[in-house]
Formats: sequence, C-alpha cells, structure tokens
Amino acid sequence: MSFKLPSLQYDYKSLEPYIDAATMEIHHTKHHAAYTNNLNSAIEGTSIDLQPIEEILREVSKHSPVVRNNGGGYYNHNLYWEIMSPKGGGEPNGTLLKRIQADFGSFAEFKDKFSAAAASRFGSGWAWLVLRDNKLVIFSTPNQDNPLMDVAEVKGFPLLGLDVWEHAYYLKYQNRRPEYIQNFWNVISWDAVQHRFESAR
Ligand code: MN
Repeated sequence: MSFKLPSLQYDYKSLEPYIDAATMEIHHTKHHAAYTNNLNSAIEGTSIDLQPIEEILREVSKHSPVVRNNGGGYYNHNLYWEIMSPKGGGEPNGTLLKRIQADFGSFAEFKDKFSAAAASRFGSGWAWLVLRDNKLVIFSTPNQDNPLMDVAEVKGFPLLGLDVWEHAYYLKYQNRRPEYIQNFWNVISWDAVQHRFESAR
C-alpha cells in the first residue's frame, strides 16, 4: 500500500487574492506530489510500508532522513489543504474559541503569537497550533518536521499549521512573508480546525 496525493476540496484559484492559483497548483502538483512519491519510494518493501503516517512519524528517529523529510512533507501538506477554505476567515467559536481565550487571553493575542512564530522561523519550516496535555501551544519547526515526530522539540497533536517555505508564497509575495502570514487568516477554515480539536480530545 502506498500513500496517495489527496485531491483538494476547492479550486486552485479559489483562495485568491490571498493565495494565488499558480502557487496553489505548483505547491500541490509538484511539491506535495514529490513528498508523497519520495515517501512511497523510501518505505517500499520495508517494515513500515503498511503503517499509518502518524505511526511512522511517531518513531521517525528510527528511520532515514528521507522518511523524516518526505513523511513530514506528506502529512503537513495534507493538513495545510484541510485547514484552508475559500469560505474561511473570521474567528473560531464554541469550545475551540473558549480554549484559545483560556490559554492565550484572547483571539487577538493568539493571532499575534501565531503570526510571530511564523514570521520568526528562520529559513524553511512551519508554524503550529498544537494540543498538548489538553492545552494549546504555539511553536514552529524547521524543514518538514512536525509535532507528531519524536524528534520535535514540542510534541502534541497539530490543529493548525502554516507553511512558511518560500515555495508557499514567493510567486505572489516575494520576500514579504509577513504579508502572506497576515492574509492566511482570511482563508483558515475554523470548522476544520474545530473538527481536529474535537478529534484530538
Ligand atoms: Mn509546502
């Protein structure tokens, strides 16, 4: 069995003007496809080729850097497409909003802290909102690492992830990563994040 590149639930152009169609198409059909193919090649015929991706990542230190980089890339991009929507933006509600207010003070403070984590990640990586021991935590990881990995500095279940590799924004924003981060808030599907929050608890 091998991992499959997922289809997106929306058109490449539907996140415009915040994320442009060309970036979306290249990101999905080239970058995410390459992570998926490279992961499949790396695990083919090995003892882990029947494992769910979460299990592979949980013990990723036992595997090669190829599995770490491409397994992370496969999982992270699945999450990234899932938590965005043309109908996104606004604020969460219900249990997730209450938890954000309890752990960060307010939605505005949470937004500032997450944006700062994304802006300050040096080079390529991801910013995360993670549920750990029933508390929300914000941090960032280098490369394609994520909080499910045993090698991660902070471990937990990822609820929201923002790709800050240059391939995620360079065509439209060039060096203006903060502008990409600011516009990301317009496409976050809080329904999808809430769903992940509920499934994690
Ligand atoms: Mn990417």
